[in-house]
Amino acid sequence: MTEHVDVLIIGAGLSGIGAAHQVHSAFPDRTYAILEARDAIGGTWDLFRYPGVRSDSDMHTLGYRFRPWTQAKSIADGPSILSYIRQTAADAGIDRHIRYGHKVVEASWSTKDSKWTVRAEHDGEAVELTASFLYSCSGYYHYDAGHTPDFAGIAKFGGTVVHPQHWPEDLDYKGKKVVVIGSGATAVTLVPAMAQDAAHVTMLQRSPTYIATLPGEDVLANGLRRVLGNRTAYAITRWKNVVLHTAMYQLSRRRPRLVKAALRKMTARQLPKDFDIDTHFKPRYQPWDQRLCLVPDGDLFRAIRHGTASVVTDHIKEFTETGIQLESGAKLDADVVVTATGLRLLAFGGMRIVVDGRLVELPETMAYKGMMLSGIPNFVFTIGYTNASWTLKADLVSEYTVRLLRHMDEHGYVQCAPANDDPSVTEQPLLDFQAGYVLRAINEFPKAGSRAPWQLGMSYAHDVVKLRYGNIDDGVMRFSHGRKLKPVNEVVSSAQSA
Ligand SMILES: Cc1cc2nc3c(=O)[nH]c(=O)nc-3n(C[C@H](O)[C@H](O)[C@H](O)COP(=O)(O)OP(=O)(O)OC[C@H]3O[C@@H](n4cnc5c(N)ncnc54)[C@H](O)[C@@H]3O)c2cc1C
Repeated sequence: MTEHVDVLIIGAGLSGIGAAHQVHSAFPDRTYAILEARDAIGGTWDLFRYPGVRSDSDMHTLGYRFRPWTQAKSIADGPSILSYIRQTAADAGIDRHIRYGHKVVEASWSTKDSKWTVRAEHDGEAVELTASFLYSCSGYYHYDAGHTPDFAGIAKFGGTVVHPQHWPEDLDYKGKKVVVIGSGATAVTLVPAMAQDAAHVTMLQRSPTYIATLPGEDVLANGLRRVLGNRTAYAITRWKNVVLHTAMYQLSRRRPRLVKAALRKMTARQLPKDFDIDTHFKPRYQPWDQRLCLVPDGDLFRAIRHGTASVVTDHIKEFTETGIQLESGAKLDADVVVTATGLRLLAFGGMRIVVDGRLVELPETMAYKGMMLSGIPNFVFTIGYTNASWTLKADLVSEYTVRLLRHMDEHGYVQCAPANDDPSVTEQPLLDFQAGYVLRAINEFPKAGSRAPWQLGMSYAHDVVKLRYGNIDDGVMRFSHGRKLKPVNEVVSSAQSA
């Protein structure tokens, strides 16, 4: 007989473990399982193993609301984040509910039975489970490979080429010439970390990125913790950081020139006097059109100052046997080239979603509160903020899910799905974000709408009001008692065709 659980979570990363924690704490008697494609917990924080891997958010907001971050470092290294996730899972017994090596390939909803049938691949075999509620925490990118542009001549390069997503454990770059292609969060992390051992590291970028320096440790947080204890200090620091980041983001959007000038001043202070900031650190876009990169204690600028790292802003013409030929005519010699060229976005871990026998085309759906899909019953997903820490949103999605399940319990509902029957709501891209990895794949994602609740909110304070306290029964979310009432998907499709 097929195993049935009340809540089925997909993915055992930061979001999946947080989701399991909140659902289990609220409903200790409900059954749940986590299907995880890999053989490990932690998702991103287990997959990425490149030198220096770290957060570029502070851990007081990247950590869970329910579990204080107690380490001195606020910008934390990957292994510490992984251990925080693992410990959270172990302390709550969540790890016993994880089925490793289960890659979900299809989730099929039956309105008649009020349940999902979820198919996964495990050791080459097909495994099936059924669930009353499906909670996707599968991240936002392909796990099998990152994005690497087609570089001319790469096959003739005699050195080593690595992508940060697949870092060879035994890669020896000590005393070698390294070129890191890219200028995003990964590149600015890798460059100072590799510069400690390499002969020299060159960051090769097509165009500059905004980079802000932040202290690696939050002195206030560490002081408050000593006086007030972990929990209170964490809550205060979390809100302090939310307010500061929100203010910085809003200022960037409203007064970009002011923020540009401040960032430039900060950069100039950390670089040699004759450094060509206009070429290497003056982006062509406005602050926060793309995610702002953070460097703890200015480590990138320190490496440049010390001469162990440098920046080249140019275009690649082709790889040669010994390095990279640039369009300007210059040449970079390299023993190791790191292609920090980004991720490939993937919605819901690539699984097919079927509702009553009909394959769902994701771009035909609209995201409700950035966490459910129009016409897809009993289905929640996590996509974090692009302008703030992922977990701030992930925590709120879990809180809302718990409230939604409670509401259904109280009224005896077994199905729920948002329905967009307002013809004045127009479609928009789910992420209004100009980063290359977003633009490359956003057409394969669900749409957002022109108005709430169909927008992917990017304001934590606003989402706290809406998701933690807002009405569950808001007229957009449709509920049904199963067979007693009209099944949800009929309500939805008649609404859509209206
Ligand atoms: C290098 C790097 C640094 C980052 N730094 C920050 C930061 O500082 N701040 C920030 O806010 N965000 C950051 N992010 C974004 C980061 O991914 C999120 O913060 C967070 O880790 C996402 O957690 P998640 O659990 O939602 O997704 P993931 O960490 O991606 O975990 C998803 C899990 O789902 C599993 N899965 C996927 N598809 C399937 C399937 N079909 N079946 C079964 N299992 C599946 C995966 O194997 C994985 O374990 C960073 C991302 C990267 C790549």
